[in-house]
Amino acid sequence: MNKIPAEKLLIGAHTSAAGGAHLALLEGQVIGATTVQLFTSNQKRWQGREITEEDAALFQSTLQETGLDKIMSHDSYLINLGSPDKEGLHKSRKAFKEELIRCQTLGITFLNFHPGAALDSSEEECLNTIVASLEEMEKTASGGKTKILLETTAGQGSSVGYTFEHLDYIIDRVHKKISIGVCIDTCHIFAAGYDIRTEDGWKKMIHQFDEVVGIKHLQAFHVNDSMKPLGSRRDRHAPLGDGEIGWSCFKAMMTHPQTREIPKYLETPDGPPLWKKEIHKLREFAK
Ligand SMILES: [Zn+2]
Ligand SMILES: [Zn+2]
Repeated sequence: MNKIPAEKLLIGAHTSAAGGAHLALLEGQVIGATTVQLFTSNQKRWQGREITEEDAALFQSTLQETGLDKIMSHDSYLINLGSPDKEGLHKSRKAFKEELIRCQTLGITFLNFHPGAALDSSEEECLNTIVASLEEMEKTASGGKTKILLETTAGQGSSVGYTFEHLDYIIDRVHKKISIGVCIDTCHIFAAGYDIRTEDGWKKMIHQFDEVVGIKHLQAFHVNDSMKPLGSRRDRHAPLGDGEIGWSCFKAMMTHPQTREIPKYLETPDGPPLWKKEIHKLREFAK
């Protein structure tokens, strides 16, 4: 089997869409990215922005010009599809549906979201509410090509999705109805207790994911080092190599045959100059 050349592998970062979604693509191009993640709307507001036909056309033509591929959207931080609160759940489902439509209109490949937080309910209730929320998206989801991705969480506070078993629970119940997959965030799984500091640790984690969820559901990575130690359940991103995870993990990720070609998005803290260096280094590992 022919390997994709390192320069063509999809690696990018969460770039800024302030002033227009297409600007996130242009910023990506400047830092040597071949894909990017963006917010289609203000991530801290319930009221979403509407995407006009002009916005979508500009986004598509910029995609063609830059050659970027498999663009990912990150949903609003306010959305909790597992909320035990009736009002909160209703607002979340509405906002998520609107986000999905924005992604479909722009022609975005992945819509990434944090599964949900149990708040004062149990984890099982929360997981069941997430399943029901996703089932409600079935009709909207079938109207476009955007794939919904569950992001692994650090398990901070009452959030679910910090074990592969949680993800499997959800995927198992909905994958025949909607297009769904998983985005593994390296900082989050490490904080949740998966020790990926060595090549061996990386292999074990991937094997475990395959056993529990199934490798075919793994669609993307958020690539971050962690400021907080293994199992701390705290979500604090660090520049690659500067945190508790270290470079061996990222080298293993770029060389392992089951993870080398999966799209990757940096969410490290220092912005474009750092991302440019990190993207370059990740490509070097893949050569
Ligand atoms: Zn992430
Ligand atoms: Zn995070």
